[in-house]
Amino acid sequence: MIRFSRKYRPVIFDDVIGQDSVVKILRASVDKKHYVSAYLFSGLQGIGKTTLGRIFSNAILCDSPIDNNPCHKCESCKLFAKEQHFGYRELDAASFSGKEDMKQLRDEGAFLSVSDKKIILLDESHDISTAGQDALLKQIEQCPEHLIYMFCTTNPDKMAPTLRERCMELQLFSVEPSIIFDRLKYICEQENLNYQDDALVLISEKSKGHVRSALNMLEKISYLDEISVKNLNLIYKDFEEDIFEIVANLGIDLSKVLDTYHSISSYLSATQFYNLMLSLVNDAVKYLYGYDKFSEKYREFLRKLKEIHGSSLPEFLDYLIKRDKYIEKIGIQSDLVILHSKFEINSFAKQIPLNDIKIQNQSKKRAPNVKNLSFTELSKLDVNERSRILREQRMKHKAEQKEEKENVPLNWPLPKEKRLGENTGSRENLSAEEFSQNLVGGRVARVKPVVNP
Ligand SMILES: [Zn+2]
Repeated sequence: MIRFSRKYRPVIFDDVIGQDSVVKILRASVDKKHYVSAYLFSGLQGIGKTTLGRIFSNAILCDSPIDNNPCHKCESCKLFAKEQHFGYRELDAASFSGKEDMKQLRDEGAFLSVSDKKIILLDESHDISTAGQDALLKQIEQCPEHLIYMFCTTNPDKMAPTLRERCMELQLFSVEPSIIFDRLKYICEQENLNYQDDALVLISEKSKGHVRSALNMLEKISYLDEISVKNLNLIYKDFEEDIFEIVANLGIDLSKVLDTYHSISSYLSATQFYNLMLSLVNDAVKYLYGYDKFSEKYREFLRKLKEIHGSSLPEFLDYLIKRDKYIEKIGIQSDLVILHSKFEINSFAKQIPLNDIKIQNQSKKRAPNVKNLSFTELSKLDVNERSRILREQRMKHKAEQKEEKENVPLNWPLPKEKRLGENTGSRENLSAEEFSQNLVGGRVARVKPVVNP
């Protein structure tokens, strides 16, 4: 059986989905027969870079393109389909990346055979060695008119800037779930598959904009009796809710964090676990700043995270992005304990100025209502309530500190005679020690005036 991802791989521009602007440029180039020496296709894994490079090459070599698509009827197209066209060479830079390899390409490209163009496509081009990229740079500068280089990469930043500048860079983007849905539905009809629309919606969302991974998921489930949400959940266990439970309980309930982690740890590698957590927190930060194009269920998770962690989320995201250097040494469980304590002491919110995020202002408004409970009273409370009150007290303390800072007059420092006014306590009423302790930058901080006996 031919795999869906191969069977339904686009072979003409019309079949390419979700990359309209890039396709438009390539079709126009075919139409005018106007090509540059080097193209760079960039974008995530499985997004269709190589496929688009092949269609473009096929169309360039085609004897009589139809509406700028390869005709798939001429001799040239037939050879191309059989991967026997002498005018097209496709290589993987992972195994063909040295300086000598690039020189070999140059020598090969210098000669024409049957076609009037010669195309060299280098996949995973970020793997080309530095010396190889240097050699390519010269080759592109002195490129004969018939020769076209195409580079495909998931990581264009790893390519030399000088080389990138000489390419026409075409960035491919993740495909909208609704477009993937239409494609999946089309394939289900073609294959006579028994399917539910809900399941296709779920696959479209889970594939995160990658058409190939959506097709692979569909193919796997197609072996079962029906493409249904139930079967989908059977094969692709959904960790969304578990990851949400873990993140939501950080700083609140460590037992719940660790228990939930234990329940899913055998299904996920460390990298998968962190990628899922990173993805959730990333979306929570987007939601915090007002972006809300998510499914209803997922949006509810994000709304709760905003309510629970609020302005700590951007710092938390920053921690997760930089975590790699620590995690190898300490392991996931210890990291979760550290994360829990960081939320407990509110350390993620420290870096955020109070005015920068709306939610912080809301906390400030809430602050004056906080009950000032003693530790004995606090210890009698249930753990969630205790965490909430402690957090509110910290917020209140911060709000007060900020208020004090804001009270500093604009014409600071004050003239000498005004520095020791009624509100700040009189210099005469303070002991020398108190005076020196409270004098900050030439201004006495607010202290209780000493009452004469
Ligand atoms: Zn043709």
